[in-house]
Amino acid sequence: MNYYVLTLFPEMIQQAAGASILGRAAKNGFITVEAVNIRDFSANKHMRVDDYPYGGGAGMVMEAEPVYRAVRAVEEKAGRTMRVVYLTPQGRVLNQTMVEEFAREEALVLLCGHYEGIDERVLEEVVTDYVSIGDYVLTGGELGAMVMIDAISRFVPGVLSNEESSQFESLQDNLLEYPHYTRPEIWHDRQVPPVLLSGDHKKIEEWRHQKSLERTKSRRPDLFRRSYRVSCIWHGDER
Ligand code: SAM
Repeated sequence: MNYYVLTLFPEMIQQAAGASILGRAAKNGFITVEAVNIRDFSANKHMRVDDYPYGGGAGMVMEAEPVYRAVRAVEEKAGRTMRVVYLTPQGRVLNQTMVEEFAREEALVLLCGHYEGIDERVLEEVVTDYVSIGDYVLTGGELGAMVMIDAISRFVPGVLSNEESSQFESLQDNLLEYPHYTRPEIWHDRQVPPVLLSGDHKKIEEWRHQKSLERTKSRRPDLFRRSYRVSCIWHGDER
């Protein structure tokens, strides 16, 4: 998967994408993350990329032309058109289903706004997807782009090692994952649930499934209601 992040603050992307599992994935060639500075496409001699909003009001607006040129430049470099995702609080709120769908692409352009946002005309012309990472307003799209890169890359073959990829994970079948424990067996007078020490794999699996249901019901009742597995139980045909 190749990501092209169009931003006014490339250092935010370079630093975050260069560390930990993503950094290793890039080093091993499973992903590439290219931070493209929109300012490099300014036609202004002071490299200015924003201006006052027509109609007045607070804040500055990013100009259409540098964004347009940046998108066309990465498409030319990649030798293909790509989905162009604008990170915005006005987009569809990202979820695991959307993440899995984006992961089927070979390359993505992630466009980060700043200030009041970007001139609407270039958005109309180049953007294919509007994505929000939650119902709150950030100062810029960079953290949103990193959230997408991180979540999507987990589905790119080779990015996670066997130990890092779990067979069951939160949000699979709309359920949250069961709780985890590691050594020591007793910590602050709290004991690891005895079933996990029993060595009985069937019992452990049942216990984990039960915890997963309880946890989803109490923490995310909205998910619990949608859970496929719960509906199977209600209809009496759980395998
Ligand atoms: N004036 C815009 C509005 O009300 O919709 C908000 C602009 S925000 C201060 C600056 C930039 O941060 C946006 O252009 C967008 O790229 C990014 N951003 C802010 N909140 C976001 C969110 N929840 N999800 C994704 N990107 C966000």
